[in-house]
Amino acid sequence: MVMGQLNQETELAIIGGGPGGYVAALRAADLGLEVVVIEEREKLGGVCLTEGCIPSKTLINAVDLIASAREADQMGLSFGEVEIDREKLLGWSQKVVQTLTGGVNSLVKKRGIEVIQGRARFADSHTLAIEGAGTVQFKHAVIATGSRINELPPAYEQPVWSSAEALQLPEIPDTLLVVGGGYIGLEMGLVYAGLGTQVTMVEFNPRLLTGADSDLVEIMVNRVSDRFAQILTGSKVTGVEYADDRFTVTIENEGETESRSFDRVLVAIGRRPNTDDLGLENTAIELDEHGLIPVTEEMRTVEEHIFAIGDVAPGPMLAHKASREGKVVAEVIAGEPAAFDNRAIPAVVFTDPEIAWAGLTESEAEEKGLEYTVGRFPLRALGRARTMGRVEGMVKILAEPDSGTVLGVGMVGPHASELIAEGTLAIEMGATLEDLMVTIHPHPTLSEAVMEAAEVAAGQPIHIPPARPKE
Ligand code: FAD
Repeated sequence: MVMGQLNQETELAIIGGGPGGYVAALRAADLGLEVVVIEEREKLGGVCLTEGCIPSKTLINAVDLIASAREADQMGLSFGEVEIDREKLLGWSQKVVQTLTGGVNSLVKKRGIEVIQGRARFADSHTLAIEGAGTVQFKHAVIATGSRINELPPAYEQPVWSSAEALQLPEIPDTLLVVGGGYIGLEMGLVYAGLGTQVTMVEFNPRLLTGADSDLVEIMVNRVSDRFAQILTGSKVTGVEYADDRFTVTIENEGETESRSFDRVLVAIGRRPNTDDLGLENTAIELDEHGLIPVTEEMRTVEEHIFAIGDVAPGPMLAHKASREGKVVAEVIAGEPAAFDNRAIPAVVFTDPEIAWAGLTESEAEEKGLEYTVGRFPLRALGRARTMGRVEGMVKILAEPDSGTVLGVGMVGPHASELIAEGTLAIEMGATLEDLMVTIHPHPTLSEAVMEAAEVAAGQPIHIPPARPKE
């Protein structure tokens, strides 16, 4: 990385080296653009690689293994009690992160992309001031500064954990309160529960994972609820006190207020875009009410030569959305026809079982009063799920009633994170139920559930009984 005083010009300056920024840089360099990436962290990779997607999945993979080892008992295999070496587990997780960030750095280097380490702010609409490192004049800029953990309300001003701290596995506490039942809270809660902590979860909304259809969430909750000490929905933490290395937490639940004690508290109540300390006031860019940067389909801001992608742009805060937008901006800047006009952005929750969906959800369809047909195929009717001893789950497909065009795919079950790719492709390609039904799916695999759900939606189920004719 370049450090020290610079005063240089570049065709394209990218602020932030996360999955939005670094992917934009790689694609832009391949399209012949001169690229400079400005990143304040020591390594590229952003939140996703260093304190998000990747370290969370290493730990989830580890606790899934523990659960599988325990459940193998039903198949006549017993491994005895699992011994957990916290330091070794953390070391393994860190090694994975190091390997991947190292890989990104080497890809960037091989493309001849210059990386400047430092914090960038707009001095005007063509100049970035880099803290302690001079200025960069640019022809085009991409804002890819990502997001950070929501600032905690004053009630939490105590040494509580954020997801980033929890991923460092500082200890395996006896008891843990997880505040927030979104995907990060659930994934982290299940990690600690899997490592042996008594985890209590508090969620303000009446149910967990409000973005996902409740039929999918219910199946997951049924399987994991006994791994939690308690899941309190429709509840609120109103106070946190810390003394003698313990937390006393006041929880409001169904009109009652009670005080409980926990060894540690993890707060996962959402993320906010990094747009407030960027010098945007020195440009014409204005933020929306969520602090996001409004953009066109080409990811252009109101300053046509400045683009915004990833967590700072509207849409779900997900790495794969950031990366797709990164490719779009690179192509647009290189003068190619490109737009972020994707029909579906898959969402995955890496719980056990996993939940995934793409395109229209049933709750959205109902809210908007859209007509749809739906087919549900339960995993208990699927050979491969039986061979794995994992029959909880289902795949459902929503389709346009007349044309059969696939509008949405939702699933809960093992490897849903992988299976959703087929659903996403179907929506992206404008596939119909028939396309999914006539495509030969390998047997015996979980992917057959996608075909079977399409058959159910089309009224031609094979491995479940046909619906009774309406009287
Ligand atoms: P980021 O990854 O946030 O990168 C932005 C970069 O910009 C950072 O490196 C930052 O240091 C740098 N930066 C910020 N401001 C400046 C500045 N002024 N000057 C210079 N550099 C700056 N998403 C998924 O798709 N799948 C998952 O499984 C998943 N799991 C997650 C788990 C956790 C615990 C968390 C917290 C997030 C998870 N996410 C997941 C979300 C994902 O990490 C983000 O959506 C993704 O990282 C956004 O990419 P980005 O490029 O927009 O920004």
